[in-house]
Amino acid sequence: MKTIQLLNYARGEWIEGENARDIPSAIDGSIVARTGSDGLDFKAMLNHARDVGGPALREMTFHERAWMLKSLGLAIMERKEELYALNPHSGATRGDGWIDIDGGALTLLSYSSTGRKHLPDAHVILDGPQEALAKEPGFIGQHIMTPKQGAAVHINAFNFPVWGMLEKVAPTLLAGMPCIVKPATATSYLCEAAFRIMIETGVLPEGAVQLIVGGVGDLFDHLQGQDVVSFTGSAWTAGKLKNHPTVLKESVTFVAEQDSLNASLLGPDAAPGTPEFDLFISEVVREMTVKAGQKCTAIRRAMAPAEHLDAVEDAIKKMLAALTIGDPREKETTLGALVSCSQRDDVREKIAELVEGGARIVHGDPAATVGIEGGAFIEPTLLRADDPWNADAVHDVEAFGPVATIMPYKDIDDAIALANRGMGSLALSFFSHDPQAAATFVRGAAAFHGRMLVINRDNAKLSTGHGSPLPVLIHGGPGRAGGSEEMGGVRGLHHYMQRTAIQSTPDMIAAISGQYVPGASKAKSEVHPFRLKMSEMKLGQTFYSDTRKVTIEDIEHFANFTGDTFYAHMDEEAAKASPIFEGRVAHGYLILSFAAGLFVDPDPGPVLANTGLEDLKFLTPLYPGDAMRVELTVKSKSIKSEETGVVKWQVEVFNQNDEQVATYTLLTENTP
Ligand code: NAP
Repeated sequence: MKTIQLLNYARGEWIEGENARDIPSAIDGSIVARTGSDGLDFKAMLNHARDVGGPALREMTFHERAWMLKSLGLAIMERKEELYALNPHSGATRGDGWIDIDGGALTLLSYSSTGRKHLPDAHVILDGPQEALAKEPGFIGQHIMTPKQGAAVHINAFNFPVWGMLEKVAPTLLAGMPCIVKPATATSYLCEAAFRIMIETGVLPEGAVQLIVGGVGDLFDHLQGQDVVSFTGSAWTAGKLKNHPTVLKESVTFVAEQDSLNASLLGPDAAPGTPEFDLFISEVVREMTVKAGQKCTAIRRAMAPAEHLDAVEDAIKKMLAALTIGDPREKETTLGALVSCSQRDDVREKIAELVEGGARIVHGDPAATVGIEGGAFIEPTLLRADDPWNADAVHDVEAFGPVATIMPYKDIDDAIALANRGMGSLALSFFSHDPQAAATFVRGAAAFHGRMLVINRDNAKLSTGHGSPLPVLIHGGPGRAGGSEEMGGVRGLHHYMQRTAIQSTPDMIAAISGQYVPGASKAKSEVHPFRLKMSEMKLGQTFYSDTRKVTIEDIEHFANFTGDTFYAHMDEEAAKASPIFEGRVAHGYLILSFAAGLFVDPDPGPVLANTGLEDLKFLTPLYPGDAMRVELTVKSKSIKSEETGVVKWQVEVFNQNDEQVATYTLLTENTP
């Protein structure tokens, strides 16, 4: 294969760096690519992001940026074979590559959907409810979130060059911040190829993304307080970078996703012969072999009740012996190579430290020559620590390869303490069919682990697996794992946004946020809003219904018709005796039904269907003889596709004294 010359993408141009260095293939050591970033003006790149990319992204709404992510994800999907052609040089099989390449594109698509579903088609996020700040309703507090006005610097690890880039790019761009991506050198050819596909879509505004394929030079010296560094890699590098004097002086937000000593536990109930025992064995072996164990979430410590440890050892060894180590391009290969020979040497050193620290090798010879000559192959290595409380290394040393250590625990408390002994991890799995054991374990261990899976015979087929971070769930962990969170749906945007408390009137909050908020002025709609397409509706546009009297006959008819003969509607004496009512009252569901009768405009039109109610509150009882009327206000609109969108309506039901009887948000599916 011809050596690829990688290019940086700085200030809208592809630039070859000076003093380029060779990147060897993991398969046979041949040179895959040449790369370097010397000569780039890093200060100017930061300024380009801040002055050009940031303003362009902030002009767009969350929904516009979400559509942009969709285009990027689809473009990567369409051209993914270009990436799969490079993938084996990182040592990865096609299956390993799926997590990186398809997984990366799916993360973009998932964030696109999160943006359109959970964020407004506006520029500001309303964070939490209104806070009343005065006795009268006119002065309120509202937290809002707006994009930071700096540059986000993304530094990624070598093991997932595509996904690692995209799991950071997706929430950053959706938040409205530009980014500068710096992949790990060892696999930067894959990152550069995926980055190039995104640029070639033409959907990214100038300055939204830049790429450094090499060192970051003096970039850190020019960071400012509105910038964010999001780092993935070893604890050692994270420690060095987060203590950079400029990061400290400027209070630069620093997100760290580090290595961790993730654990998997066989529950006390999961004896050999149970489905949970077999599931545990398969998962430990899978985590050792996928990506040749080079996953930040991989199981490094496998714990089992002491009486089952021999059975665990035998079962894992049997599965490891059946693996086919070799060329990741071959279909029958089940264990590819490490990323480089230097990484293999590092894994060998770390195994030696584990042995010195109290573990012994029970399967595999890390020094054995396997695979293709010149390649970075290593035998999967299983260690055993019979006295895990006197083997500190097994809870501290990460051998970033197909390596795990099995160890015994005495009882559930010992299991919790051992799991937490890793001092913070990204992912933990617990194999048990006993809800009591799971409850005790999770309550004792959750504070030390970012994600926990409780796997058993009921969910194994559906499980996404121990090692797979998901865009809708947080990825990160406390302590050793870096103390940060990434992804987790909308949560993943928060590092890239500033939360500000605004104190003012509801009208001002509505104007600032570009969204209707309760208490803000309404505009009477000249036509019924059910007759309007989404593009024709204005936020705050309100339909005022007629008034309807509610009679005792209505209540009795509803009770008998539905079968809801609860005392509060049917028994005057009991209702009076209650601490809440002064007599029989209308059903909440009757009020909702009458409300629909008052506000619905029946003919077919842009409103296609009612899809739900949110935040329903019954505030004042409605007694027989009372009257009710409804105000229906357009609260938010989000377009899902060219055919459909969702409108949220604020519904307020009032009685004859203008007291609020009920409030809720109505969701309808509409024609855009
Ligand atoms: P690493 O050596 O710490 O490198 C991580 C990144 O930092 C690379 O892009 C590297 O670039 C860059 N870097 C190194 N020194 C730097 C400096 N002085 N200034 C700026 N950037 C610098 O880690 P790695 O070997 O790539 O990755 C393996 C480790 O990452 C494992 O320990 C694994 O557990 C961890 N990891 C964690 C997660 C997570 O989500 N928590 C995910 C994946 C991996 P160069 O390659 O150019 O040196």
